[in-house]
Amino acid sequence: MAKQRREQHYCNFCGRGSDEVALLMPGINGFICNDCAESAHEIVQEYFGEKKRSNDAEKPDLGTLPTPEEIKEYLDGYVIGQDEAKKFLSVAVYNHYKRLSQDRTDDVEIEKSNILIVGPTGTGKTLLAKTIAKMLKVPFAIVDATVLTQAGYVGEDIESLLVRLLQACDYDVKEAERGIVFIDEIDKIARKGDNPSITRDVSGEGVQQGLLKLLEGSIVNVPPQGGRKHPEQKMIAVDTKNILFICGGAFEGIERKIALRMNTHVVGYGTDSKLRQVEREMLLRYVAPQDLRSYGLIPEIIGRLPILTSLEPLDKPALLRILTEPRNAIVKQYQKLLAMDGAVLEINNDALEFVVDKAIEYKLGARGLRSLFEAIMIDVMYDVPSKKLKKFVLTKEYAQKQLERVNLELMRND
Ligand code: ADP
Repeated sequence: MAKQRREQHYCNFCGRGSDEVALLMPGINGFICNDCAESAHEIVQEYFGEKKRSNDAEKPDLGTLPTPEEIKEYLDGYVIGQDEAKKFLSVAVYNHYKRLSQDRTDDVEIEKSNILIVGPTGTGKTLLAKTIAKMLKVPFAIVDATVLTQAGYVGEDIESLLVRLLQACDYDVKEAERGIVFIDEIDKIARKGDNPSITRDVSGEGVQQGLLKLLEGSIVNVPPQGGRKHPEQKMIAVDTKNILFICGGAFEGIERKIALRMNTHVVGYGTDSKLRQVEREMLLRYVAPQDLRSYGLIPEIIGRLPILTSLEPLDKPALLRILTEPRNAIVKQYQKLLAMDGAVLEINNDALEFVVDKAIEYKLGARGLRSLFEAIMIDVMYDVPSKKLKKFVLTKEYAQKQLERVNLELMRND
């Protein structure tokens, strides 16, 4: 019996004999069984798959990327107007990908161009950022600058904004290092007053200095769980060189700085009256780096945000379009809600106009449109399922009656 076993062939990987496996394949110096061959195949697949994925991560394929025009078209589906900002964003995101896939054999290094979007609150800054995030193939995080403080003060350390990015890609550092961060309310960390000698400005210059390090590109040690740094916590080193930063802020009152600058630069009569024609809020489109400086951003930060664009205030036609046109427009959402109960929702144009007029009158902006609709539709939403209504027509009179019960002043949230 023992003699017989010795004559048998064995798999050199698992040691099983030819009588224990279905197939034993001979090599130069040994054998491999079918099971081990299959496992080896899987290991090879996995290894090269991983390798390919990590190469892909470093160099996105430009051929498969959406062009700036396609990125803008996508944004058009969700964000009304704001064409200029959309264009800047689309190009910046596209160039971000290009930078990630650039050929590093020559001396020309494409540097990143971080962006600053200035615009009144509720005009679509966050919406633009979120919509871009939806179509992106890189990690994306939105952070609020107001929670950031200089290290050592109460609040979150500046590095914490990289934690969000790390969380967005399951702590894959390589992925995070090619991500995009949207920093909202950047205006809130402006230096108070135009006096650079103010010291211990907790929420201002110190934070800007900290942020500058990130914008410029440096290796930052990030506490994995965010929050305060603990000496015992193991830090994750993140290189911010390739991270694209998009900043947004309302910069309330900056129109005055713009007006002042434009006025002082005007020579002669004609232009003076021209300036008067420009509506106060329209001045935003002329925002320039020096206005940001007099608003309280340090020059180094402004220098690191070379793309400066503004959002337009939303007028009545824009608000009307916001109600009905975006892919997930408020009206479409209510129609879908009612359709799920088997009812059709029809809305008269004068009812839509009425809602928009109220949003303007009470300065509720685009953000308030939803609250207004909610207040108007509450009874219908309550009744439709139980009363089995088949159709509801929203008229101006009905909307009027519903809003009479609400204190619209309280709807303002800014
Ligand atoms: P902010 O500029 O303050 O970041 P948001 O982007 O958060 O403003 O806008 C608030 C809400 O108002 C959005 O969620 C969206 O419903 C609506 N909204 C604002 N601007 C637009 C726009 N240009 N197109 C479509 N909806 C908009």
